[in-house]
Amino acid sequence: MTTEKKRKYRRRDRSAYYAQLSAWAGSAIVAAPVSMEKATSDHIIADEALRRFGPDPDYNPKYADCRFWESACEEMLKEESKWRQLHQTFAWIDEKPVWVNATSWEIIAGLAEPTKPCTRHFRLSLIGGGQVKVTEEFRLRKYKDMEPWLTCYDRRHLRVQAETEEGLRTVSGAIANAISEMGADAVVFPEHVPQAIAERVAATFRLIDSRDDFMALLLSSDRCGCCGRPLKDQVSKLLNIGPSCAKAMRLPHDIATANRVLARRRELLGG
Ligand SMILES: [Zn+2]
Repeated sequence: MTTEKKRKYRRRDRSAYYAQLSAWAGSAIVAAPVSMEKATSDHIIADEALRRFGPDPDYNPKYADCRFWESACEEMLKEESKWRQLHQTFAWIDEKPVWVNATSWEIIAGLAEPTKPCTRHFRLSLIGGGQVKVTEEFRLRKYKDMEPWLTCYDRRHLRVQAETEEGLRTVSGAIANAISEMGADAVVFPEHVPQAIAERVAATFRLIDSRDDFMALLLSSDRCGCCGRPLKDQVSKLLNIGPSCAKAMRLPHDIATANRVLARRRELLGG
């Protein structure tokens, strides 16, 4: 997806959200009582967020009270502080709050939206050598009396094999998020995982800005990048995905796509 297209998505998402807000505007919003201690710590976080991320780049006075940007920046700082307390290694994929998170692959890469609980796997080439296997468990979630919805939020696992100067390192981690109206994705690993590996995984995901990018990063192997079964025909071998998995993920599977994806792979990964 081009930057311009992505901006459009963001604008669209935002205007949909604003429409929803206008609909809510009629209903009374009752503020919860806030303790002095909490108010002070919130103030410190707000100051730090402003120093770190700057003011809202899309500031709109009409919605200033909503503090979309500010609350998402603060959420990122709160998540970071939680990960630090747990001594985890992390790297942001989205370095600032966005309306469409970097791993919203249904929007960014056009992957099919799962329609029932399922587990989705795929393997990508890792920047700097190696691979990252993504496992997303889509489950129905329920909140209060809302309709249940299907999501893999907090069930996205990573298995990384990274080529390093000390040899191949295999580590496990997860995709995590700071969630507000705007949000940001990160990769999080246990304490022993080097920061450089987390940065490489985040940078790999950050490369995906279109469907071709996603396909170009599918791991080159004699096996399908999704299900691991042997690849038989030439198009599958060029695309690193078999026809049935491509269909299930709503990815094209033809020679024209293969040619385009090959060129993109060279641009993204070299070689
Ligand atoms: Zn497959």
